[in-house]
Amino acid sequence: MALRFFNTYSRKIEEFEPRDPAARAISIYTCGPTVYSRAHIGNFRAYIFEDLLQRHLELRGYKVHRVMNITDVDDKTIRGAREAKVPLTKFTEQFKKAFFQDAETLRIKRADEFPAATDQRYVDRMIAMIAELIARGLAYQADDKSVYFRINKFPNYGKLAHFDLTQLQSTGRVKHDEYDKEHIGDFALWKAWDEEDADVKWDSPWGPGRPGWHIECSAMAMTLLGDQIDIHCGGVDNIFPHHEAEIAQSEGVTGKKFVRYWLHCAHLLVDSQKMAKSLGNFFTVPDVLAKGYTGRELRYALLRVHYRVPLNFTWEGMKEARESLARIDEWLTRLKQKSQEANVERPASNVQRPTQKFEEALDDDLNISAALGVLFESIRETNRAMDENKLDAASANVWLDWWKRINTVLDLEPETKIAVPEEVVQLGEQRENARREKNWKRSDELRDRISALGWDVRDTKDGQKLARRIAE
Ligand code: AMP
Ligand code: ZN
Repeated sequence: MALRFFNTYSRKIEEFEPRDPAARAISIYTCGPTVYSRAHIGNFRAYIFEDLLQRHLELRGYKVHRVMNITDVDDKTIRGAREAKVPLTKFTEQFKKAFFQDAETLRIKRADEFPAATDQRYVDRMIAMIAELIARGLAYQADDKSVYFRINKFPNYGKLAHFDLTQLQSTGRVKHDEYDKEHIGDFALWKAWDEEDADVKWDSPWGPGRPGWHIECSAMAMTLLGDQIDIHCGGVDNIFPHHEAEIAQSEGVTGKKFVRYWLHCAHLLVDSQKMAKSLGNFFTVPDVLAKGYTGRELRYALLRVHYRVPLNFTWEGMKEARESLARIDEWLTRLKQKSQEANVERPASNVQRPTQKFEEALDDDLNISAALGVLFESIRETNRAMDENKLDAASANVWLDWWKRINTVLDLEPETKIAVPEEVVQLGEQRENARREKNWKRSDELRDRISALGWDVRDTKDGQKLARRIAE
Protein backbone atom coordinates (compact mmCIF):
# COMPACT_ATOMS: atom_id res chain seq x y z
CA MET A 1 0.00 0.00 0.00
CA ALA A 2 1.26 3.46 -0.86
CA LEU A 3 2.20 6.12 1.64
CA ARG A 4 -0.61 8.48 2.56
CA PHE A 5 -0.54 11.84 4.31
CA PHE A 6 -3.15 14.29 5.47
CA ASN A 7 -2.52 17.40 3.37
CA THR A 8 -3.57 20.58 5.19
CA TYR A 9 -4.02 22.27 1.81
CA SER A 10 -6.78 19.89 0.66
CA ARG A 11 -7.84 18.80 4.17
CA LYS A 12 -7.75 15.26 2.81
CA ILE A 13 -5.68 12.12 3.14
CA GLU A 14 -3.74 11.91 -0.12
CA GLU A 15 -1.55 9.28 -1.64
CA PHE A 16 2.05 10.48 -1.59
CA GLU A 17 3.43 11.22 -5.04
CA PRO A 18 6.72 13.08 -4.91
CA ARG A 19 7.80 15.45 -7.66
CA ASP A 20 10.35 13.02 -8.93
CA PRO A 21 9.16 9.48 -8.14
CA ALA A 22 11.86 7.77 -10.18
CA ALA A 23 14.72 9.40 -8.27
CA ARG A 24 13.05 8.61 -4.95
CA ALA A 25 14.52 11.89 -3.73
CA ILE A 26 12.36 14.12 -1.54
CA SER A 27 12.78 17.67 -0.33
CA ILE A 28 11.39 18.69 3.05
CA TYR A 29 11.33 22.13 4.64
CA THR A 30 10.63 22.36 8.34
CA CYS A 31 10.16 25.64 10.23
CA GLY A 32 12.75 25.71 12.97
CA PRO A 33 13.14 27.51 16.26
CA THR A 34 13.01 31.22 16.89
CA VAL A 35 16.11 31.56 19.01
CA TYR A 36 15.05 34.15 21.58
CA SER A 37 14.89 31.66 24.46
CA ARG A 38 15.38 27.95 24.99
CA ALA A 39 12.91 25.90 22.93
CA HIS A 40 10.26 24.15 25.06
CA ILE A 41 9.16 20.55 24.72
CA GLY A 42 6.08 21.68 22.74
CA ASN A 43 8.44 22.88 20.02
CA PHE A 44 10.19 19.55 20.26
CA ARG A 45 6.94 17.70 19.69
CA ALA A 46 6.92 19.33 16.26
CA TYR A 47 10.56 18.43 15.61
CA ILE A 48 10.03 14.83 16.74
CA PHE A 49 7.07 14.49 14.36
CA GLU A 50 9.30 15.76 11.54
CA ASP A 51 12.01 13.33 12.62
CA LEU A 52 9.49 10.48 12.43
CA LEU A 53 8.43 11.63 8.97
CA GLN A 54 12.02 11.71 7.68
CA ARG A 55 12.96 8.38 9.22
CA HIS A 56 9.89 6.61 7.87
CA LEU A 57 10.44 7.97 4.37
CA GLU A 58 14.02 6.72 4.59
CA LEU A 59 12.83 3.32 5.80
CA ARG A 60 10.66 3.24 2.68
CA GLY A 61 13.69 3.84 0.50
CA TYR A 62 13.45 7.58 -0.15
CA LYS A 63 16.44 9.86 -0.02
CA VAL A 64 15.45 12.87 2.03
CA HIS A 65 16.97 16.34 1.72
CA ARG A 66 15.72 18.28 4.73
CA VAL A 67 16.19 21.91 5.63
CA MET A 68 15.34 23.42 9.00
CA ASN A 69 15.72 27.16 9.35
CA ILE A 70 16.82 29.07 12.40
CA THR A 71 14.88 32.30 12.91
CA ASP A 72 17.55 34.51 14.39
CA VAL A 73 16.05 37.89 13.57
CA ASP A 74 12.49 38.96 14.32
CA ASP A 75 10.67 41.17 16.84
CA LYS A 76 11.28 38.76 19.73
CA THR A 77 14.99 38.20 19.17
CA ILE A 78 15.57 41.95 18.73
CA ARG A 79 13.64 42.72 21.91
CA GLY A 80 15.56 40.01 23.80
CA ALA A 81 18.96 41.35 22.68
CA ARG A 82 17.94 44.90 23.59
CA GLU A 83 16.83 43.86 27.07
CA ALA A 84 19.97 41.78 27.62
CA LYS A 85 22.07 44.69 26.27
CA VAL A 86 24.10 42.43 23.98
CA PRO A 87 24.44 42.30 20.18
CA LEU A 88 21.78 40.22 18.41
CA THR A 89 24.18 37.48 17.28
CA LYS A 90 25.59 37.05 20.77
CA PHE A 91 22.08 36.89 22.19
CA THR A 92 20.82 34.23 19.75
CA GLU A 93 24.01 32.13 19.81
CA GLN A 94 23.30 30.65 23.26
CA PHE A 95 19.81 29.49 22.23
CA LYS A 96 21.06 28.00 18.97
CA LYS A 97 23.56 25.97 20.96
CA ALA A 98 20.91 24.87 23.45
CA PHE A 99 18.62 23.85 20.59
CA PHE A 100 21.21 21.54 19.05
CA GLN A 101 22.02 20.09 22.45
CA ASP A 102 18.37 19.35 23.23
CA ALA A 103 17.73 17.92 19.76
CA GLU A 104 20.63 15.53 20.29
CA THR A 105 19.32 14.52 23.71
CA LEU A 106 16.04 13.64 22.01
CA ARG A 107 17.84 11.74 19.25
CA ILE A 108 16.41 13.93 16.53
CA LYS A 109 18.20 13.36 13.27
CA ARG A 110 19.99 16.48 12.10
CA ALA A 111 18.59 18.23 9.05
CA ASP A 112 20.98 18.48 6.10
CA GLU A 113 21.04 22.25 6.44
CA PHE A 114 20.21 24.75 9.16
CA PRO A 115 20.16 28.12 7.38
CA ALA A 116 20.06 31.21 9.58
CA ALA A 117 17.91 34.11 8.45
CA THR A 118 20.66 36.68 9.13
CA ASP A 119 23.04 35.09 6.61
CA GLN A 120 23.69 37.74 3.92
CA ARG A 121 23.19 35.11 1.23
CA TYR A 122 19.55 34.69 2.25
CA VAL A 123 18.96 38.37 2.98
CA ASP A 124 20.01 39.06 -0.62
CA ARG A 125 17.52 36.49 -1.84
CA MET A 126 14.76 37.99 0.33
CA ILE A 127 15.45 41.44 -1.13
CA ALA A 128 15.43 40.04 -4.68
CA MET A 129 12.10 38.32 -4.04
CA ILE A 130 10.52 41.45 -2.57
CA ALA A 131 11.70 43.48 -5.59
CA GLU A 132 10.12 40.90 -7.90
CA LEU A 133 6.84 40.99 -5.97
CA ILE A 134 6.75 44.79 -6.26
CA ALA A 135 7.47 44.54 -9.99
CA ARG A 136 4.55 42.16 -10.35
CA GLY A 137 2.17 44.44 -8.45
CA LEU A 138 1.94 42.01 -5.56
CA ALA A 139 3.70 44.26 -3.05
CA TYR A 140 4.00 47.96 -2.29
CA GLN A 141 5.94 50.31 -0.08
CA ALA A 142 3.67 52.16 2.34
CA ASP A 143 4.11 55.62 3.88
CA ASP A 144 5.77 54.07 6.92
CA LYS A 145 8.55 52.94 4.49
CA SER A 146 7.84 49.25 5.12
CA VAL A 147 6.97 46.97 2.23
CA TYR A 148 3.78 44.88 2.35
CA PHE A 149 2.35 41.99 0.41
CA ARG A 150 -0.93 42.95 -1.33
CA ILE A 151 -3.12 39.95 -0.47
CA ASN A 152 -6.02 41.10 -2.68
CA LYS A 153 -3.82 40.58 -5.74
CA PHE A 154 -3.12 36.94 -4.92
CA PRO A 155 -6.37 35.03 -5.53
CA ASN A 156 -5.20 31.89 -3.73
CA TYR A 157 -4.54 33.74 -0.47
CA GLY A 158 -6.43 31.93 2.29
CA LYS A 159 -6.53 28.54 0.51
CA LEU A 160 -4.21 26.79 2.96
CA ALA A 161 -5.93 28.05 6.10
CA HIS A 162 -9.36 27.84 4.42
CA PHE A 163 -9.73 31.41 5.49
CA ASP A 164 -12.36 33.84 4.21
CA LEU A 165 -10.77 37.24 3.66
CA THR A 166 -14.07 39.10 3.76
CA GLN A 167 -14.45 37.97 7.35
CA LEU A 168 -11.06 39.37 8.15
CA GLN A 169 -12.27 42.74 6.91
CA SER A 170 -15.51 42.68 8.79
CA THR A 171 -14.32 41.70 12.26
CA GLY A 172 -12.89 45.15 12.87
CA ARG A 173 -10.74 43.68 15.59
CA VAL A 174 -7.43 44.58 14.03
CA LYS A 175 -6.30 48.12 14.62
CA HIS A 176 -6.57 50.17 11.42
CA ASP A 177 -4.07 52.71 12.55
CA GLU A 178 -1.39 50.11 13.18
CA TYR A 179 0.25 50.52 9.80
CA ASP A 180 -0.39 52.43 6.64
CA LYS A 181 -1.52 49.31 4.87
CA GLU A 182 -4.03 49.05 2.03
CA HIS A 183 -5.71 46.02 3.59
CA ILE A 184 -5.54 44.95 7.20
CA GLY A 185 -4.48 41.46 6.12
CA ASP A 186 -1.46 42.72 4.15
CA PHE A 187 1.68 41.45 5.82
CA ALA A 188 5.15 42.95 6.07
CA LEU A 189 7.84 41.73 3.71
CA TRP A 190 10.35 44.38 4.71
CA LYS A 191 10.17 46.26 8.00
CA ALA A 192 11.61 49.76 7.88
CA TRP A 193 14.25 50.43 10.50
CA ASP A 194 13.22 52.21 13.68
CA GLU A 195 15.32 53.10 16.69
CA GLU A 196 14.14 50.07 18.68
CA ASP A 197 16.03 47.95 16.13
CA ALA A 198 19.33 49.64 17.13
CA ASP A 199 22.10 48.25 14.92
CA VAL A 200 19.98 45.43 13.46
CA LYS A 201 19.51 46.59 9.88
CA TRP A 202 20.35 45.80 6.28
CA ASP A 203 20.41 48.15 3.32
CA SER A 204 17.74 47.66 0.70
CA PRO A 205 16.20 49.54 -2.23
CA TRP A 206 13.49 50.68 0.25
CA GLY A 207 15.91 52.01 2.84
CA PRO A 208 17.43 50.36 5.90
CA GLY A 209 15.37 47.71 7.59
CA ARG A 210 14.98 43.99 8.13
CA PRO A 211 12.98 41.18 6.56
CA GLY A 212 9.63 39.97 7.82
CA TRP A 213 9.53 36.47 9.30
CA HIS A 214 7.50 34.95 6.43
CA ILE A 215 9.83 36.01 3.62
CA GLU A 216 12.78 34.53 5.54
CA CYS A 217 11.34 31.03 5.18
CA SER A 218 10.34 31.44 1.52
CA ALA A 219 13.82 32.65 0.60
CA MET A 220 15.72 29.99 2.54
CA ALA A 221 13.47 27.18 1.28
CA MET A 222 13.79 28.25 -2.35
CA THR A 223 17.53 28.90 -2.18
CA LEU A 224 18.28 25.46 -0.78
CA LEU A 225 15.48 23.31 -2.19
CA GLY A 226 14.40 25.06 -5.38
CA ASP A 227 11.11 26.65 -6.45
CA GLN A 228 9.06 23.57 -5.66
CA ILE A 229 9.33 21.30 -2.68
CA ASP A 230 7.70 18.04 -1.76
CA ILE A 231 6.77 18.45 1.90
CA HIS A 232 6.59 21.45 4.20
CA CYS A 233 5.95 20.98 7.92
CA GLY A 234 5.33 22.86 11.12
CA GLY A 235 2.96 23.04 14.05
CA VAL A 236 -0.68 23.96 13.39
CA ASP A 237 -0.03 27.49 14.66
CA ASN A 238 2.22 27.98 11.61
CA ILE A 239 -0.64 27.48 9.14
CA PHE A 240 -1.87 31.06 9.35
CA PRO A 241 -0.44 33.50 8.66
CA HIS A 242 3.07 32.05 8.32
CA HIS A 243 2.62 29.26 5.79
CA GLU A 244 -0.20 31.04 3.98
CA ALA A 245 2.20 33.94 3.50
CA GLU A 246 5.00 31.64 2.34
CA ILE A 247 2.76 30.33 -0.44
CA ALA A 248 1.76 33.84 -1.51
CA GLN A 249 5.36 35.07 -1.63
CA SER A 250 6.89 32.04 -3.32
CA GLU A 251 4.15 31.44 -5.86
CA GLY A 252 3.87 35.19 -6.38
CA VAL A 253 7.47 35.18 -7.59
CA THR A 254 7.61 31.90 -9.54
CA GLY A 255 4.02 31.27 -10.63
CA LYS A 256 4.63 27.61 -9.76
CA LYS A 257 3.09 25.48 -7.03
CA PHE A 258 5.41 25.91 -4.06
CA VAL A 259 4.62 22.84 -1.92
CA ARG A 260 2.96 19.54 -2.76
CA TYR A 261 2.14 18.36 0.78
CA TRP A 262 1.59 20.52 3.85
CA LEU A 263 1.85 18.53 7.09
CA HIS A 264 1.12 20.11 10.47
CA CYS A 265 1.26 18.61 13.92
CA ALA A 266 -1.22 19.30 16.70
CA HIS A 267 0.01 20.99 19.83
CA LEU A 268 1.51 19.67 22.98
CA LEU A 269 -0.85 20.80 25.73
CA VAL A 270 -0.63 21.39 29.44
CA ASP A 271 -3.97 21.20 31.26
CA SER A 272 -5.69 21.37 27.88
CA GLN A 273 -3.93 24.59 26.89
CA LYS A 274 -1.22 24.97 24.26
CA MET A 275 2.25 24.79 25.80
CA ALA A 276 3.65 28.21 24.96
CA LYS A 277 6.32 30.56 26.15
CA SER A 278 3.81 33.39 26.30
CA LEU A 279 1.56 31.42 28.68
CA GLY A 280 4.46 30.45 30.94
CA ASN A 281 3.16 26.85 31.12
CA PHE A 282 6.17 25.24 29.51
CA PHE A 283 8.96 22.82 30.33
CA THR A 284 12.31 22.63 28.61
CA VAL A 285 14.32 19.47 27.97
CA PRO A 286 16.64 20.25 30.95
CA ASP A 287 13.53 20.69 33.16
CA VAL A 288 12.45 17.14 32.31
CA LEU A 289 15.98 15.71 32.76
CA ALA A 290 16.19 17.41 36.16
CA LYS A 291 13.18 15.35 37.23
CA GLY A 292 15.21 12.19 36.66
CA TYR A 293 13.98 11.28 33.18
CA THR A 294 16.20 10.55 30.22
CA GLY A 295 16.11 12.04 26.73
CA ARG A 296 15.03 8.65 25.44
CA GLU A 297 12.02 8.62 27.81
CA LEU A 298 11.01 12.11 26.73
CA ARG A 299 11.45 11.15 23.08
CA TYR A 300 9.08 8.25 23.60
CA ALA A 301 6.53 10.39 25.48
CA LEU A 302 6.45 12.97 22.66
CA LEU A 303 6.48 10.40 19.88
CA ARG A 304 3.85 7.90 20.96
CA VAL A 305 0.68 9.79 19.98
CA HIS A 306 -0.40 10.42 16.38
CA TYR A 307 0.94 13.77 15.26
CA ARG A 308 -2.50 15.18 14.41
CA VAL A 309 -3.92 14.43 17.86
CA PRO A 310 -3.29 17.01 20.60
CA LEU A 311 -1.11 15.49 23.31
CA ASN A 312 -1.45 16.47 26.93
CA PHE A 313 1.90 16.55 28.71
CA THR A 314 1.77 15.05 32.22
CA TRP A 315 4.30 13.53 34.60
CA GLU A 316 2.05 10.48 34.70
CA GLY A 317 2.64 10.20 30.94
CA MET A 318 6.40 10.32 31.57
CA LYS A 319 6.09 7.44 34.04
CA GLU A 320 4.13 5.46 31.47
CA ALA A 321 6.89 6.16 28.94
CA ARG A 322 9.43 4.75 31.38
CA GLU A 323 7.30 1.63 31.91
CA SER A 324 6.80 1.05 28.18
CA LEU A 325 10.52 1.37 27.53
CA ALA A 326 11.28 -1.02 30.38
CA ARG A 327 9.08 -3.58 28.63
CA ILE A 328 11.01 -3.11 25.42
CA ASP A 329 14.34 -3.39 27.26
CA GLU A 330 13.37 -6.58 29.06
CA TRP A 331 12.13 -8.09 25.82
CA LEU A 332 15.37 -7.23 24.02
CA THR A 333 17.46 -8.71 26.83
CA ARG A 334 15.47 -11.94 26.69
CA LEU A 335 15.69 -12.13 22.92
CA LYS A 336 19.43 -11.53 22.99
CA GLN A 337 19.94 -14.28 25.55
CA LYS A 338 17.72 -16.61 23.58
CA SER A 339 19.55 -15.85 20.34
CA GLN A 340 22.82 -16.92 21.91
CA GLU A 341 21.55 -20.28 23.12
CA ALA A 342 22.64 -23.30 21.15
CA ASN A 343 19.98 -23.98 18.58
CA VAL A 344 18.31 -27.09 19.88
CA GLU A 345 15.51 -27.11 17.31
CA ARG A 346 12.75 -26.24 19.67
CA PRO A 347 9.30 -26.65 18.20
CA ALA A 348 8.58 -23.17 16.96
CA SER A 349 5.66 -23.92 14.70
CA ASN A 350 3.13 -21.74 16.46
CA VAL A 351 5.43 -18.78 16.94
CA GLN A 352 4.43 -15.63 15.11
CA ARG A 353 7.00 -14.15 12.80
CA PRO A 354 7.38 -10.40 12.26
CA THR A 355 4.94 -8.84 9.81
CA GLN A 356 4.85 -5.67 7.74
CA LYS A 357 2.17 -4.21 10.00
CA PHE A 358 4.43 -1.76 11.84
CA GLU A 359 5.55 -0.12 8.60
CA GLU A 360 2.09 -0.25 7.11
CA ALA A 361 0.71 1.63 10.10
CA LEU A 362 3.27 4.37 9.49
CA ASP A 363 2.42 4.42 5.78
CA ASP A 364 -1.04 5.43 6.92
CA ASP A 365 -0.34 9.09 7.73
CA LEU A 366 2.37 8.14 10.25
CA ASN A 367 0.03 6.28 12.57
CA ILE A 368 2.60 5.77 15.29
CA SER A 369 0.08 4.70 17.96
CA ALA A 370 -1.00 1.80 15.75
CA ALA A 371 2.63 0.99 14.94
CA LEU A 372 3.51 0.88 18.64
CA GLY A 373 0.44 -1.29 19.17
CA VAL A 374 1.97 -3.77 16.71
CA LEU A 375 5.26 -3.65 18.61
CA PHE A 376 3.71 -4.33 22.02
CA GLU A 377 1.49 -7.07 20.63
CA SER A 378 4.62 -8.68 19.17
CA ILE A 379 6.37 -8.34 22.54
CA ARG A 380 3.45 -10.08 24.26
CA GLU A 381 3.42 -12.92 21.74
CA THR A 382 7.15 -13.56 21.73
CA ASN A 383 7.40 -13.30 25.51
CA ARG A 384 4.69 -15.93 25.79
CA ALA A 385 6.55 -18.14 23.34
CA MET A 386 9.73 -17.71 25.38
CA ASP A 387 7.85 -18.50 28.61
CA GLU A 388 6.64 -21.70 26.97
CA ASN A 389 10.08 -22.44 25.61
CA LYS A 390 8.78 -22.32 22.08
CA LEU A 391 11.11 -19.72 20.60
CA ASP A 392 14.36 -20.98 19.23
CA ALA A 393 17.59 -19.05 18.69
CA ALA A 394 16.96 -18.55 14.98
CA SER A 395 13.50 -17.06 15.62
CA ALA A 396 14.95 -14.82 18.32
CA ASN A 397 17.40 -13.51 15.76
CA VAL A 398 14.62 -12.85 13.28
CA TRP A 399 12.85 -10.74 15.91
CA LEU A 400 16.07 -8.91 16.76
CA ASP A 401 16.55 -8.09 13.07
CA TRP A 402 12.98 -6.80 12.93
CA TRP A 403 13.66 -4.60 15.96
CA LYS A 404 16.79 -3.24 14.28
CA ARG A 405 14.73 -2.30 11.26
CA ILE A 406 11.88 -0.60 13.09
CA ASN A 407 14.33 1.05 15.46
CA THR A 408 15.76 3.04 12.56
CA VAL A 409 12.46 4.91 12.83
CA LEU A 410 11.94 4.78 16.58
CA ASP A 411 15.54 5.32 17.71
CA LEU A 412 14.71 3.95 21.15
CA GLU A 413 17.76 1.80 21.68
CA PRO A 414 18.41 1.55 25.43
CA GLU A 415 20.77 4.20 26.76
CA THR A 416 24.25 2.92 27.21
CA LYS A 417 25.81 6.05 28.52
CA ILE A 418 24.04 6.57 31.85
CA ALA A 419 26.77 6.20 34.41
CA VAL A 420 25.59 4.56 37.59
CA PRO A 421 27.70 5.85 40.51
CA GLU A 422 30.12 3.28 41.92
CA GLU A 423 28.48 3.37 45.36
CA VAL A 424 25.10 2.52 43.85
CA VAL A 425 26.62 -0.31 41.78
CA GLN A 426 28.16 -1.83 44.89
CA LEU A 427 24.98 -1.58 46.94
CA GLY A 428 23.16 -3.16 43.99
CA GLU A 429 25.57 -6.11 43.98
CA GLN A 430 25.15 -6.58 47.72
CA ARG A 431 21.39 -6.52 47.26
CA GLU A 432 21.56 -9.17 44.56
CA ASN A 433 23.55 -11.36 46.93
CA ALA A 434 21.03 -10.77 49.70
CA ARG A 435 18.20 -11.79 47.39
CA ARG A 436 20.03 -14.90 46.30
CA GLU A 437 20.29 -15.80 49.98
CA LYS A 438 16.59 -14.95 50.34
CA ASN A 439 17.51 -12.37 52.95
CA TRP A 440 14.54 -10.10 52.17
CA LYS A 441 15.10 -7.82 55.15
CA ARG A 442 18.61 -6.95 54.06
CA SER A 443 17.46 -6.64 50.45
CA ASP A 444 14.88 -4.04 51.51
CA GLU A 445 17.42 -2.16 53.59
CA LEU A 446 19.76 -2.00 50.64
CA ARG A 447 16.92 -0.81 48.42
CA ASP A 448 16.35 2.06 50.88
CA ARG A 449 20.03 2.97 50.83
CA ILE A 450 20.08 2.95 47.04
CA SER A 451 16.93 5.03 47.05
CA ALA A 452 18.51 7.57 49.40
CA LEU A 453 21.18 8.07 46.74
CA GLY A 454 18.49 8.95 44.19
CA TRP A 455 18.18 5.60 42.40
CA ASP A 456 15.31 3.13 41.96
CA VAL A 457 15.64 -0.64 41.88
CA ARG A 458 13.32 -2.80 39.82
CA ASP A 459 13.36 -6.57 40.00
CA THR A 460 12.83 -8.27 36.66
CA LYS A 461 13.10 -11.79 35.31
CA ASP A 462 16.65 -10.92 34.30
CA GLY A 463 17.70 -9.59 37.66
CA GLN A 464 17.56 -6.14 39.12
CA LYS A 465 17.63 -2.95 37.09
CA LEU A 466 18.73 0.46 38.32
CA ALA A 467 17.20 3.72 37.14
CA ARG A 468 17.53 7.30 38.33
CA ARG A 469 14.64 8.08 40.63
CA ILE A 470 11.99 10.49 39.44
CA ALA A 471 11.70 13.67 41.47
CA GLU A 472 8.11 14.25 42.64
P1 AMP B 1 8.65 28.94 17.22
O1 AMP B 1 9.98 28.83 17.88
O2 AMP B 1 7.60 29.60 18.07
O3 AMP B 1 8.74 29.58 15.85
O4 AMP B 1 8.09 27.46 16.99
C1 AMP B 1 8.86 26.45 16.41
C2 AMP B 1 7.98 25.28 16.03
O5 AMP B 1 7.33 24.70 17.17
C3 AMP B 1 6.84 25.64 15.07
O6 AMP B 1 6.74 24.63 14.09
C4 AMP B 1 5.61 25.66 15.95
O7 AMP B 1 4.44 25.40 15.22
C5 AMP B 1 5.93 24.57 16.93
N1 AMP B 1 5.22 24.67 18.23
C6 AMP B 1 5.15 25.74 19.06
N2 AMP B 1 4.45 25.45 20.19
C7 AMP B 1 4.06 24.15 20.07
C8 AMP B 1 3.32 23.23 20.90
N3 AMP B 1 2.83 23.59 22.10
N4 AMP B 1 3.11 21.97 20.45
C9 AMP B 1 3.62 21.58 19.24
N5 AMP B 1 4.34 22.38 18.42
C10 AMP B 1 4.56 23.65 18.82
ZN1 ZN C 1 8.88 29.08 8.65
